[in-house]
Amino acid sequence: MSTVTQKAPSRFGYATHLSCRECGHTCPIGSGHACAECFGPLEVAYDLPQLTRDAIESGPLSMWRYASLLPVPPDVAAAPNLDPGWTRLVRADQLASVLGMRELWIKDERGNPTHSFKDRVVGVALAAAIELGYKVLACPSTGNLANAVAAAAARAGMRSVVLIPADLESQKVIGSAVFGCALVAVRGSYDDVNRLASELADERDDWAFVNVNVRPYYAEGSKTIGFEIAEQLGWRLPEQIVVPVASGAQLVKIDKAFRELVATGLVDDTPYNVFGAQASGCSPVAAAFRAGQDVVQPVRPATIAKSLAIGNPADGPYVLDVVRRTGGLVADVGDDELVDAIRLLAATEGIFAETAGGVTLAVLRQLLKEGQIDPDARTVIINSGDGLKTPDAVADSIGAITPIQATLEAFAAHEHAHREPAQREPEHGNGGPA
Ligand SMILES: *Cc1c(COP(=O)(O)O)cnc(C)c1O
Ligand SMILES: [Zn+2]
Repeated sequence: MSTVTQKAPSRFGYATHLSCRECGHTCPIGSGHACAECFGPLEVAYDLPQLTRDAIESGPLSMWRYASLLPVPPDVAAAPNLDPGWTRLVRADQLASVLGMRELWIKDERGNPTHSFKDRVVGVALAAAIELGYKVLACPSTGNLANAVAAAAARAGMRSVVLIPADLESQKVIGSAVFGCALVAVRGSYDDVNRLASELADERDDWAFVNVNVRPYYAEGSKTIGFEIAEQLGWRLPEQIVVPVASGAQLVKIDKAFRELVATGLVDDTPYNVFGAQASGCSPVAAAFRAGQDVVQPVRPATIAKSLAIGNPADGPYVLDVVRRTGGLVADVGDDELVDAIRLLAATEGIFAETAGGVTLAVLRQLLKEGQIDPDARTVIINSGDGLKTPDAVADSIGAITPIQATLEAFAAHEHAHREPAQREPEHGNGGPA
Protein backbone atom coordinates (compact mmCIF):
# COMPACT_ATOMS: atom_id res chain seq x y z
CA MET A 1 0.00 0.00 0.00
CA SER A 2 1.16 3.47 -0.81
CA THR A 3 1.90 5.85 2.05
CA VAL A 4 0.41 8.75 0.08
CA THR A 5 -3.15 9.34 1.27
CA GLN A 6 -5.62 8.54 -1.47
CA LYS A 7 -9.28 9.34 -1.66
CA ALA A 8 -11.55 6.42 -0.79
CA PRO A 9 -13.46 5.13 -3.82
CA SER A 10 -17.20 5.78 -4.04
CA ARG A 11 -19.85 3.40 -5.41
CA PHE A 12 -18.51 4.44 -8.85
CA GLY A 13 -14.92 3.77 -7.90
CA TYR A 14 -12.55 6.64 -8.67
CA ALA A 15 -14.89 8.10 -11.29
CA THR A 16 -15.64 11.71 -10.36
CA HIS A 17 -17.98 13.04 -13.06
CA LEU A 18 -19.16 12.75 -16.65
CA SER A 19 -17.59 15.03 -19.20
CA CYS A 20 -18.67 15.97 -22.75
CA ARG A 21 -16.32 14.67 -25.43
CA GLU A 22 -17.20 17.61 -27.67
CA CYS A 23 -17.33 20.74 -25.47
CA GLY A 24 -15.85 19.54 -22.16
CA HIS A 25 -18.97 20.52 -20.18
CA THR A 26 -19.17 18.38 -17.02
CA CYS A 27 -22.02 16.92 -15.00
CA PRO A 28 -22.24 14.70 -11.91
CA ILE A 29 -22.01 10.91 -12.16
CA GLY A 30 -25.55 9.79 -12.96
CA SER A 31 -27.84 8.61 -15.72
CA GLY A 32 -26.91 11.21 -18.36
CA HIS A 33 -25.45 10.11 -21.67
CA ALA A 34 -25.76 13.29 -23.78
CA CYS A 35 -24.38 16.74 -22.98
CA ALA A 36 -26.95 19.28 -21.75
CA GLU A 37 -25.08 22.05 -23.62
CA CYS A 38 -24.34 20.51 -27.04
CA PHE A 39 -25.88 16.98 -27.07
CA GLY A 40 -22.38 15.55 -27.51
CA PRO A 41 -21.60 12.12 -25.99
CA LEU A 42 -20.56 11.98 -22.33
CA GLU A 43 -17.55 10.08 -21.05
CA VAL A 44 -16.59 8.96 -17.55
CA ALA A 45 -13.80 11.06 -15.97
CA TYR A 46 -11.69 9.95 -13.00
CA ASP A 47 -9.34 11.08 -10.33
CA LEU A 48 -7.13 8.07 -10.97
CA PRO A 49 -5.30 6.53 -8.03
CA GLN A 50 -1.63 5.55 -8.24
CA LEU A 51 -1.56 1.78 -8.65
CA THR A 52 1.08 -0.90 -8.32
CA ARG A 53 1.60 -3.87 -10.58
CA ASP A 54 1.61 -6.12 -7.49
CA ALA A 55 -1.84 -4.95 -6.41
CA ILE A 56 -3.26 -5.72 -9.84
CA GLU A 57 -1.46 -9.04 -10.23
CA SER A 58 -2.92 -10.23 -6.91
CA GLY A 59 -6.46 -9.31 -7.99
CA PRO A 60 -9.16 -11.60 -9.37
CA LEU A 61 -8.53 -13.59 -12.57
CA SER A 62 -11.14 -11.54 -14.43
CA MET A 63 -11.49 -8.00 -15.74
CA TRP A 64 -12.26 -6.98 -12.14
CA ARG A 65 -8.52 -6.97 -11.43
CA TYR A 66 -8.87 -3.51 -13.06
CA ALA A 67 -11.94 -2.44 -11.04
CA SER A 68 -10.12 0.62 -9.67
CA LEU A 69 -9.83 2.00 -13.24
CA LEU A 70 -13.55 1.49 -13.92
CA PRO A 71 -16.73 3.31 -12.78
CA VAL A 72 -17.83 0.40 -10.58
CA PRO A 73 -18.15 -0.25 -6.82
CA PRO A 74 -14.97 -1.56 -5.14
CA ASP A 75 -16.81 -4.80 -4.23
CA VAL A 76 -18.09 -5.36 -7.79
CA ALA A 77 -16.54 -8.82 -8.03
CA ALA A 78 -18.60 -10.00 -5.04
CA ALA A 79 -21.95 -9.36 -6.74
CA PRO A 80 -23.42 -12.13 -8.94
CA ASN A 81 -21.95 -11.49 -12.39
CA LEU A 82 -20.24 -13.46 -15.16
CA ASP A 83 -16.66 -12.46 -14.20
CA PRO A 84 -15.64 -11.62 -17.79
CA GLY A 85 -12.16 -11.00 -19.10
CA TRP A 86 -8.61 -12.18 -18.35
CA THR A 87 -8.71 -13.92 -21.72
CA ARG A 88 -5.62 -15.41 -23.30
CA LEU A 89 -3.04 -13.38 -25.20
CA VAL A 90 -1.69 -16.00 -27.60
CA ARG A 91 1.72 -15.72 -29.22
CA ALA A 92 1.01 -16.68 -32.84
CA ASP A 93 4.37 -17.86 -34.19
CA GLN A 94 3.04 -20.10 -36.95
CA LEU A 95 0.74 -17.38 -38.26
CA ALA A 96 3.59 -14.87 -37.91
CA SER A 97 5.86 -17.02 -40.03
CA VAL A 98 3.22 -17.31 -42.78
CA LEU A 99 2.84 -13.53 -42.71
CA GLY A 100 6.58 -12.87 -42.46
CA MET A 101 6.24 -11.14 -39.10
CA ARG A 102 8.48 -11.30 -36.08
CA GLU A 103 6.21 -10.94 -33.04
CA LEU A 104 2.47 -11.37 -33.42
CA TRP A 105 -0.04 -11.84 -30.60
CA ILE A 106 -3.76 -12.57 -30.64
CA LYS A 107 -5.99 -11.31 -27.85
CA ASP A 108 -8.53 -14.12 -27.95
CA GLU A 109 -11.86 -12.84 -26.70
CA ARG A 110 -13.59 -16.17 -27.28
CA GLY A 111 -12.59 -16.96 -23.70
CA ASN A 112 -15.33 -14.70 -22.32
CA PRO A 113 -18.50 -16.20 -20.79
CA THR A 114 -20.62 -15.67 -23.92
CA HIS A 115 -17.62 -15.89 -26.26
CA SER A 116 -17.10 -12.26 -27.23
CA PHE A 117 -15.64 -9.11 -25.68
CA LYS A 118 -19.19 -7.81 -25.19
CA ASP A 119 -19.24 -9.51 -21.77
CA ARG A 120 -16.76 -6.85 -20.61
CA VAL A 121 -18.83 -3.84 -21.61
CA VAL A 122 -21.97 -5.44 -20.21
CA GLY A 123 -20.15 -6.20 -16.95
CA VAL A 124 -19.54 -2.50 -16.35
CA ALA A 125 -22.96 -1.43 -17.66
CA LEU A 126 -24.71 -3.91 -15.38
CA ALA A 127 -22.82 -2.75 -12.28
CA ALA A 128 -23.58 0.90 -13.10
CA ALA A 129 -27.22 0.16 -13.95
CA ILE A 130 -27.69 -1.42 -10.52
CA GLU A 131 -26.05 1.56 -8.77
CA LEU A 132 -28.23 3.95 -10.81
CA GLY A 133 -31.41 2.09 -9.83
CA TYR A 134 -32.44 0.64 -13.21
CA LYS A 135 -34.61 -2.46 -13.09
CA VAL A 136 -34.36 -3.90 -16.64
CA LEU A 137 -31.22 -4.52 -18.72
CA ALA A 138 -31.77 -3.91 -22.44
CA CYS A 139 -29.92 -3.30 -25.72
CA PRO A 140 -30.12 -2.99 -29.46
CA SER A 141 -27.59 -5.51 -30.77
CA THR A 142 -25.86 -6.99 -33.80
CA GLY A 143 -25.86 -10.29 -31.88
CA ASN A 144 -22.99 -10.66 -29.46
CA LEU A 145 -24.25 -7.87 -27.22
CA ALA A 146 -27.66 -9.55 -27.05
CA ASN A 147 -25.97 -12.78 -25.86
CA ALA A 148 -23.97 -10.90 -23.23
CA VAL A 149 -26.90 -8.82 -21.92
CA ALA A 150 -29.24 -11.80 -21.71
CA ALA A 151 -26.69 -13.96 -19.86
CA ALA A 152 -25.50 -11.24 -17.45
CA ALA A 153 -29.07 -10.24 -16.59
CA ALA A 154 -30.00 -13.87 -15.92
CA ARG A 155 -27.05 -14.25 -13.55
CA ALA A 156 -27.89 -10.99 -11.76
CA GLY A 157 -31.57 -11.89 -11.44
CA MET A 158 -32.67 -8.99 -13.65
CA ARG A 159 -35.16 -8.93 -16.48
CA SER A 160 -33.69 -8.29 -19.95
CA VAL A 161 -35.01 -7.12 -23.30
CA VAL A 162 -32.91 -7.37 -26.45
CA LEU A 163 -33.67 -5.91 -29.87
CA ILE A 164 -31.97 -7.46 -32.91
CA PRO A 165 -32.19 -7.12 -36.69
CA ALA A 166 -34.45 -9.90 -38.00
CA ASP A 167 -31.76 -11.33 -40.34
CA LEU A 168 -29.29 -12.23 -37.57
CA GLU A 169 -27.33 -15.55 -37.47
CA SER A 170 -29.48 -18.21 -35.73
CA GLN A 171 -26.59 -19.07 -33.36
CA LYS A 172 -26.78 -15.55 -31.96
CA VAL A 173 -30.59 -15.56 -31.75
CA ILE A 174 -30.68 -18.88 -29.87
CA GLY A 175 -27.65 -17.86 -27.81
CA SER A 176 -29.71 -14.98 -26.41
CA ALA A 177 -33.17 -16.52 -26.14
CA VAL A 178 -31.87 -19.47 -24.12
CA PHE A 179 -31.17 -17.12 -21.20
CA GLY A 180 -34.85 -16.22 -20.92
CA CYS A 181 -34.65 -12.67 -22.21
CA ALA A 182 -37.48 -10.95 -24.06
CA LEU A 183 -36.13 -11.12 -27.62
CA VAL A 184 -37.53 -8.80 -30.27
CA ALA A 185 -36.52 -9.25 -33.92
CA VAL A 186 -36.99 -6.01 -35.84
CA ARG A 187 -37.35 -5.69 -39.61
CA GLY A 188 -34.54 -3.45 -40.81
CA SER A 189 -30.83 -2.85 -40.29
CA TYR A 190 -29.00 -2.48 -36.98
CA ASP A 191 -29.27 1.27 -37.39
CA ASP A 192 -33.09 0.99 -37.47
CA VAL A 193 -32.98 -1.21 -34.37
CA ASN A 194 -30.74 1.32 -32.64
CA ARG A 195 -33.10 4.17 -33.41
CA LEU A 196 -36.04 2.25 -31.96
CA ALA A 197 -33.97 1.54 -28.84
CA SER A 198 -33.21 5.26 -28.40
CA GLU A 199 -36.91 6.05 -28.61
CA LEU A 200 -37.71 3.33 -26.06
CA ALA A 201 -34.96 4.54 -23.75
CA ASP A 202 -36.64 7.97 -23.60
CA GLU A 203 -39.95 6.36 -22.74
CA ARG A 204 -38.96 3.60 -20.24
CA ASP A 205 -37.48 5.25 -17.15
CA ASP A 206 -36.22 2.11 -15.47
CA TRP A 207 -34.71 0.37 -18.53
CA ALA A 208 -30.93 0.55 -18.87
CA PHE A 209 -30.11 0.20 -22.57
CA VAL A 210 -26.49 -0.70 -22.00
CA ASN A 211 -25.15 0.92 -25.18
CA VAL A 212 -27.61 3.85 -25.26
CA ASN A 213 -28.54 5.50 -21.97
CA VAL A 214 -25.73 3.94 -19.89
CA ARG A 215 -23.24 4.06 -22.76
CA PRO A 216 -20.61 6.12 -20.89
CA TYR A 217 -20.22 3.24 -18.40
CA TYR A 218 -20.62 0.46 -20.96
CA ALA A 219 -17.85 1.79 -23.18
CA GLU A 220 -15.36 1.87 -20.28
CA GLY A 221 -15.50 -1.93 -20.16
CA SER A 222 -13.48 -2.18 -23.38
CA LYS A 223 -10.52 -0.53 -21.64
CA THR A 224 -9.89 -3.82 -19.87
CA ILE A 225 -8.81 -5.39 -23.18
CA GLY A 226 -6.04 -2.80 -23.37
CA PHE A 227 -5.08 -3.16 -19.70
CA GLU A 228 -4.80 -6.93 -20.00
CA ILE A 229 -2.77 -6.81 -23.21
CA ALA A 230 -0.18 -4.57 -21.57
CA GLU A 231 -0.01 -6.72 -18.43
CA GLN A 232 0.24 -9.92 -20.48
CA LEU A 233 3.08 -8.43 -22.55
CA GLY A 234 4.98 -8.03 -19.28
CA TRP A 235 3.74 -4.50 -18.51
CA ARG A 236 4.64 -3.08 -21.89
CA LEU A 237 2.53 -1.52 -24.59
CA PRO A 238 2.45 -3.17 -28.02
CA GLU A 239 4.01 -1.22 -30.88
CA GLN A 240 1.12 -1.87 -33.26
CA ILE A 241 -2.45 -3.02 -32.62
CA VAL A 242 -5.24 -3.87 -35.06
CA VAL A 243 -8.80 -3.56 -33.72
CA PRO A 244 -12.14 -4.27 -35.45
CA VAL A 245 -14.46 -1.26 -35.74
CA ALA A 246 -18.27 -1.30 -35.59
CA SER A 247 -19.41 1.58 -33.36
CA GLY A 248 -15.69 2.23 -32.80
CA ALA A 249 -15.95 2.23 -28.99
CA GLN A 250 -13.60 -0.73 -28.54
CA LEU A 251 -10.79 0.89 -30.51
CA VAL A 252 -11.17 4.25 -28.77
CA LYS A 253 -11.19 2.66 -25.32
CA ILE A 254 -8.14 0.46 -25.94
CA ASP A 255 -6.23 3.65 -26.69
CA LYS A 256 -7.68 5.28 -23.56
CA ALA A 257 -6.52 2.25 -21.57
CA PHE A 258 -2.96 2.57 -22.83
CA ARG A 259 -2.89 6.25 -21.87
CA GLU A 260 -4.29 5.52 -18.40
CA LEU A 261 -1.65 2.84 -17.82
CA VAL A 262 0.99 5.44 -18.61
CA ALA A 263 -0.72 8.07 -16.43
CA THR A 264 -0.94 5.73 -13.43
CA GLY A 265 2.72 4.75 -13.79
CA LEU A 266 2.03 1.09 -14.63
CA VAL A 267 3.81 1.10 -18.01
CA ASP A 268 6.42 3.23 -19.74
CA ASP A 269 5.26 5.78 -22.26
CA THR A 270 6.33 4.07 -25.51
CA PRO A 271 4.85 4.91 -28.92
CA TYR A 272 2.22 2.71 -30.57
CA ASN A 273 0.11 2.80 -33.76
CA VAL A 274 -3.58 1.92 -33.62
CA PHE A 275 -5.15 0.46 -36.80
CA GLY A 276 -8.91 0.05 -37.35
CA ALA A 277 -10.41 -2.83 -39.38
CA GLN A 278 -13.74 -2.78 -41.22
CA ALA A 279 -15.51 -4.94 -43.79
CA SER A 280 -15.78 -3.29 -47.21
CA GLY A 281 -19.56 -3.81 -47.14
CA CYS A 282 -19.74 -1.51 -44.12
CA SER A 283 -16.70 0.73 -44.00
CA PRO A 284 -17.83 4.30 -43.27
CA VAL A 285 -14.88 5.01 -40.97
CA ALA A 286 -12.30 3.67 -43.44
CA ALA A 287 -13.91 5.80 -46.16
CA ALA A 288 -13.72 8.93 -44.00
CA PHE A 289 -10.09 8.16 -43.16
CA ARG A 290 -9.15 7.81 -46.83
CA ALA A 291 -11.02 11.00 -47.74
CA GLY A 292 -9.20 12.90 -45.01
CA GLN A 293 -12.53 13.83 -43.38
CA ASP A 294 -13.43 14.31 -39.71
CA VAL A 295 -17.07 13.34 -40.10
CA VAL A 296 -18.33 9.88 -40.99
CA GLN A 297 -21.00 9.55 -43.69
CA PRO A 298 -23.52 6.80 -42.75
CA VAL A 299 -23.80 3.78 -45.09
CA ARG A 300 -26.24 0.91 -45.52
CA PRO A 301 -24.37 -2.28 -44.48
CA ALA A 302 -23.98 -5.25 -46.84
CA THR A 303 -21.44 -7.70 -45.40
CA ILE A 304 -21.35 -11.16 -43.83
CA ALA A 305 -19.47 -9.56 -40.90
CA LYS A 306 -22.73 -8.78 -39.13
CA SER A 307 -21.14 -8.01 -35.77
CA LEU A 308 -19.41 -5.08 -37.52
CA ALA A 309 -22.43 -3.97 -39.56
CA ILE A 310 -23.07 -0.56 -38.02
CA GLY A 311 -23.60 1.97 -40.80
CA ASN A 312 -23.72 5.02 -38.52
CA PRO A 313 -20.97 4.45 -35.92
CA ALA A 314 -21.32 6.52 -32.74
CA ASP A 315 -17.57 6.63 -32.10
CA GLY A 316 -16.50 6.99 -35.74
CA PRO A 317 -15.01 10.49 -35.41
CA TYR A 318 -13.10 9.47 -32.25
CA VAL A 319 -11.66 6.46 -34.08
CA LEU A 320 -10.34 8.88 -36.71
CA ASP A 321 -8.77 11.00 -33.94
CA VAL A 322 -7.03 7.99 -32.37
CA VAL A 323 -5.61 6.51 -35.56
CA ARG A 324 -4.41 9.91 -36.78
CA ARG A 325 -2.84 10.81 -33.43
CA THR A 326 -1.02 7.45 -33.14
CA GLY A 327 0.09 7.21 -36.77
CA GLY A 328 -2.22 4.32 -37.68
CA LEU A 329 -5.09 4.15 -40.17
CA VAL A 330 -8.46 2.51 -40.86
CA ALA A 331 -8.71 0.00 -43.72
CA ASP A 332 -11.30 -2.42 -45.03
CA VAL A 333 -11.38 -5.87 -46.67
CA GLY A 334 -13.94 -7.79 -48.70
CA ASP A 335 -15.93 -10.79 -47.50
CA ASP A 336 -13.74 -13.27 -49.44
CA GLU A 337 -10.62 -11.98 -47.72
CA LEU A 338 -12.21 -12.23 -44.30
CA VAL A 339 -13.23 -15.85 -44.94
CA ASP A 340 -9.66 -16.67 -46.07
CA ALA A 341 -8.32 -15.04 -42.94
CA ILE A 342 -10.64 -17.04 -40.66
CA ARG A 343 -9.33 -20.23 -42.26
CA LEU A 344 -5.70 -19.13 -42.07
CA LEU A 345 -6.00 -18.32 -38.35
CA ALA A 346 -7.74 -21.62 -37.67
CA ALA A 347 -5.19 -23.66 -39.63
CA THR A 348 -2.12 -21.95 -38.11
CA GLU A 349 -3.15 -21.33 -34.50
CA GLY A 350 -6.18 -23.47 -33.74
CA ILE A 351 -8.36 -20.41 -33.19
CA PHE A 352 -11.76 -20.30 -34.87
CA ALA A 353 -12.56 -16.60 -35.13
CA GLU A 354 -15.90 -15.11 -35.99
CA THR A 355 -16.23 -12.83 -38.97
CA ALA A 356 -15.01 -9.77 -37.02
CA GLY A 357 -11.76 -11.60 -36.19
CA GLY A 358 -11.44 -12.54 -39.86
CA VAL A 359 -11.77 -8.89 -40.83
CA THR A 360 -9.06 -7.92 -38.36
CA LEU A 361 -6.55 -10.51 -39.56
CA ALA A 362 -7.39 -9.78 -43.22
CA VAL A 363 -6.70 -6.08 -42.65
CA LEU A 364 -3.36 -6.93 -41.02
CA ARG A 365 -2.49 -9.06 -44.05
CA GLN A 366 -3.45 -6.29 -46.47
CA LEU A 367 -1.48 -3.65 -44.58
CA LEU A 368 1.59 -5.91 -44.56
CA LYS A 369 1.33 -6.31 -48.33
CA GLU A 370 0.99 -2.57 -48.76
CA GLY A 371 3.93 -1.92 -46.45
CA GLN A 372 1.76 0.07 -44.04
CA ILE A 373 2.52 -2.13 -41.03
CA ASP A 374 5.99 -2.98 -39.77
CA PRO A 375 6.51 -6.78 -39.85
CA ASP A 376 9.26 -6.48 -37.23
CA ALA A 377 7.28 -4.55 -34.60
CA ARG A 378 5.50 -6.14 -31.62
CA THR A 379 1.95 -6.45 -32.96
CA VAL A 380 -1.34 -7.44 -31.34
CA ILE A 381 -4.58 -8.22 -33.17
CA ILE A 382 -7.95 -8.67 -31.49
CA ASN A 383 -10.10 -11.72 -32.12
CA SER A 384 -13.27 -10.25 -30.68
CA GLY A 385 -15.65 -13.20 -31.11
CA ASP A 386 -16.16 -16.91 -31.72
CA GLY A 387 -16.41 -18.62 -35.10
CA LEU A 388 -18.87 -21.14 -33.70
CA LYS A 389 -21.43 -18.31 -33.73
CA THR A 390 -20.91 -17.60 -37.44
CA PRO A 391 -20.15 -21.01 -39.03
CA ASP A 392 -22.09 -20.19 -42.20
CA ALA A 393 -19.44 -17.64 -43.12
CA VAL A 394 -16.94 -20.44 -43.84
CA ALA A 395 -19.31 -23.30 -44.67
CA ASP A 396 -19.22 -22.70 -48.44
CA SER A 397 -15.44 -22.49 -48.59
CA ILE A 398 -15.18 -25.82 -46.76
CA GLY A 399 -17.62 -27.51 -49.12
CA ALA A 400 -19.68 -30.69 -48.82
CA ILE A 401 -18.31 -33.66 -46.88
CA THR A 402 -19.06 -37.01 -48.52
CA PRO A 403 -19.17 -40.07 -46.21
CA ILE A 404 -17.17 -43.22 -47.03
CA GLN A 405 -17.73 -46.93 -46.32
CA ALA A 406 -16.05 -48.25 -43.16
CA THR A 407 -13.34 -50.14 -45.12
CA LEU A 408 -9.59 -49.67 -45.58
CA GLU A 409 -10.07 -49.56 -49.37
CA ALA A 410 -12.57 -46.73 -49.13
CA PHE A 411 -10.27 -44.87 -46.72
CA ALA A 412 -7.30 -45.26 -49.10
CA ALA A 413 -9.35 -43.99 -52.03
CA HIS A 414 -10.49 -41.03 -49.93
CA GLU A 415 -6.93 -40.26 -48.84
CA HIS A 416 -5.73 -40.33 -52.43
CA ALA A 417 -8.47 -37.95 -53.53
CA HIS A 418 -7.73 -35.46 -50.70
CA ARG A 419 -3.93 -35.15 -50.76
CA GLU A 420 -2.50 -32.36 -48.55
CA PRO A 421 -1.63 -29.14 -50.39
CA ALA A 422 2.07 -28.23 -50.65
CA GLN A 423 3.77 -26.35 -47.78
CA ARG A 424 2.82 -22.69 -47.55
CA GLU A 425 5.38 -20.04 -48.55
CA PRO A 426 5.72 -16.92 -46.39
CA GLU A 427 3.53 -14.17 -47.79
CA HIS A 428 5.75 -11.32 -46.91
CA GLY A 429 9.55 -11.07 -47.10
CA ASN A 430 11.44 -14.08 -45.79
CA GLY A 431 10.98 -13.30 -42.11
CA GLY A 432 9.49 -15.49 -39.48
CA PRO A 433 9.77 -15.36 -35.73
CA ALA A 434 13.25 -14.45 -34.47
C1 LIG B 1 -19.55 -5.40 -31.19
C2 LIG B 1 -18.43 -6.13 -31.82
C3 LIG B 1 -17.33 -5.46 -32.37
C4 LIG B 1 -17.25 -3.97 -32.49
O1 LIG B 1 -17.20 -3.24 -31.31
P1 LIG B 1 -17.44 -1.67 -31.30
O2 LIG B 1 -17.03 -1.30 -29.93
O3 LIG B 1 -18.90 -1.44 -31.56
O4 LIG B 1 -16.60 -1.06 -32.37
C5 LIG B 1 -16.27 -6.21 -32.85
N1 LIG B 1 -16.29 -7.55 -32.82
C6 LIG B 1 -17.32 -8.24 -32.32
C7 LIG B 1 -17.27 -9.72 -32.33
C8 LIG B 1 -18.43 -7.55 -31.80
O5 LIG B 1 -19.45 -8.25 -31.30
ZN1 LIG C 1 -21.08 19.28 -24.88
